[in-house]
Amino acid sequence: MYKVNVTDLRICQKCPRLFAYHLQGKTGIWRIGLSGSGNFPGRLFHDKIANVFHEQMASKKITPMKNEMLAAVHSCSDDQSLEKSLSEILERYLFVQLMEKQGIHLKSFQIESLLRGFSLWRKHVVQLIKTAIQHIKNEPSMQIWTQIFLPPEKLLSATYGINSNVELKVNGKYDALMVDIEKKEIVITEFKGLNFGNEDDDFLQLVLYCWLIKESTGLSPRGVLFYLEEEQPAVYYQAKEITDAMNHLLAPLFKEAFLILSAYEKKEQLFVERSQNSDLCQKCPFNHSCDTDFHQKNQITERKKIAKKRASKIKSTNSQKAKEHENDEYLANQEAENAMKNVIETFQALKLPVKASGYIAGPRFIRLKITPQVKHGVIPKKIMSHAETLQLQLELQTAPLIKTQAGYVSIDFPRKISIPLTLKDVWEKGQSSRPVSNVTFPIGMSIEGQIFWANLAEPGMTSILVGGTAGSGKSVFLRSVILGLALNASPENVKLVLIDPKRVSFTDLKKLPHLLCPVLMDQKSALEMLSSIVDEMESRYRILEKACCEDITIYNKSHTTCMAHQVVIIDEYADLIIDKKTRENLEQLIIRLAQKGRAAGIHIILATQRPDVKIVTPIIKANLQLKIALKVTTKTNSMIILDQPGAEYLIGRGDMIIGGSVPFQRLQGAFSGKEDINLIFLK
Ligand code: SF4
Repeated sequence: MYKVNVTDLRICQKCPRLFAYHLQGKTGIWRIGLSGSGNFPGRLFHDKIANVFHEQMASKKITPMKNEMLAAVHSCSDDQSLEKSLSEILERYLFVQLMEKQGIHLKSFQIESLLRGFSLWRKHVVQLIKTAIQHIKNEPSMQIWTQIFLPPEKLLSATYGINSNVELKVNGKYDALMVDIEKKEIVITEFKGLNFGNEDDDFLQLVLYCWLIKESTGLSPRGVLFYLEEEQPAVYYQAKEITDAMNHLLAPLFKEAFLILSAYEKKEQLFVERSQNSDLCQKCPFNHSCDTDFHQKNQITERKKIAKKRASKIKSTNSQKAKEHENDEYLANQEAENAMKNVIETFQALKLPVKASGYIAGPRFIRLKITPQVKHGVIPKKIMSHAETLQLQLELQTAPLIKTQAGYVSIDFPRKISIPLTLKDVWEKGQSSRPVSNVTFPIGMSIEGQIFWANLAEPGMTSILVGGTAGSGKSVFLRSVILGLALNASPENVKLVLIDPKRVSFTDLKKLPHLLCPVLMDQKSALEMLSSIVDEMESRYRILEKACCEDITIYNKSHTTCMAHQVVIIDEYADLIIDKKTRENLEQLIIRLAQKGRAAGIHIILATQRPDVKIVTPIIKANLQLKIALKVTTKTNSMIILDQPGAEYLIGRGDMIIGGSVPFQRLQGAFSGKEDINLIFLK
């Protein structure tokens, strides 16, 4: 039988040659390629805080800390006071005691770093206890703690059959284990200091411990990488995700380690593949000697195959983005499931039986789908009348948006932790549905994850009204419209006219190659430009008429000199029409462009933060086909933009409802930063 431990396998996964050096007795190999170690006094934390806690909790011995914790669970009437009491007990019995004994030997930066890590860990532990609160309350005996917490840092062993005759024995000591009684799952936690971008390595370590636990208990654990020096310390992995990684990663890794180990033990010459990670090789002190030390040989095809398979699996299983996505998905699902439970119980208490019909967790929202039991007299209207009760129960800042949909009632509310949606994300995700047009841009992402595109060349979308109060994300949305248009088509095909009476919305877009003229900031220049665009429109109509073409798309297909689309974008229309003398002229020009612009390739997007009847007059509104409402202050504002309420419930920062010429739907607009502007210059 051949033996390895988790550290050996982590080294082998990084580079088989490094594993061979490690076997030969070279020291410090495990550190090669790691980006740093931070200042966190990890050993002290393990020995004197985490281990002390887990040992006490897992032991049958009654201790004052356990006694006090149990008393707190039974006496605290609400979440807040429970959290406070548990936190205070943990601090007193663990951190304060440690400081009394050893604080004098520590440097101040170590104490600070330890305190920060302790606070994060304590929060994590309190949350874990809260998930089991009902079980703890129902179980009067102190032994409940031993069912939840398991002894720390235990040595585990399991064997992997390389073939019918040979086994590889793997040993390893995990950091902390507990049982999620609610879900009947084992949860393994590995503590780290800073997250230096060594996630592949950290993840493999977690997967190996999970495999050891699975081999010993038959249960598939889920895992947490807990970075004690990071503001967002916990990276969660579900049991399925870990099992998938076990299936993909471990067999080739075990075989690779075995081949090197057996050759080494038999004192055979080692022919080991070079690492495929050039970044690692650059940092490696053996960069100049390893080719000579482990001559490459063509015959080692089996090993080559294994290395290749492993590299591709690691890449696909564990890319940073995929992990972030999976982690986020996991948290969102948990949040949605808890909320659904809460909603069903609330309606039960109100004697309005409803059934759970699923949920969708978008980047910023969760949509719960419920089916009211109509046969018991529960109609959607009754559900809608309880928006404020749900706000209370779900602890929301504003009431959730409740709507009747085909076959269910939807309840939309913002996620506790949402992920920002960037223009780049939306752009990349929406490529398969991007319309073929010179004037298209992504408006936003639906709660189901679909990208909704505007196409100004389409009759129902040629001009757009955008309304939203300050903080609704209106200017950010307009920026992403401009950048979306510029990303989509070249400056020869699309010309932009930006009107910004506020003077601050488009300052960093001044150098866009698509601009027809500098950004216009006053009424006079806006009026002159709009009237010259109207002249251009009339002149184009004459050209189209002569050429017998219906619109510029048809004209451009049959002529060598093409007409570029022109898009006028106005941020804060109310400021533009403040002067009564020019207001009428401006309104007339805008109405003419909105009415006749499409065929001539001229489009208008008009935005205002004052969607009232004095600004958005019925005639302006009637001529702007697509309506986009970001958050507004009143139901009346929502009615003015969309002809229906709802936008007053939006939560700002790009949360929007679109309507008018398209079916109403809620979307999340994209945030656009410098990176998106750079994309245009790099095109
Ligand atoms: S230089 Fe690259 S291939 Fe060679 S031992 Fe170091 S990591 Fe491995």
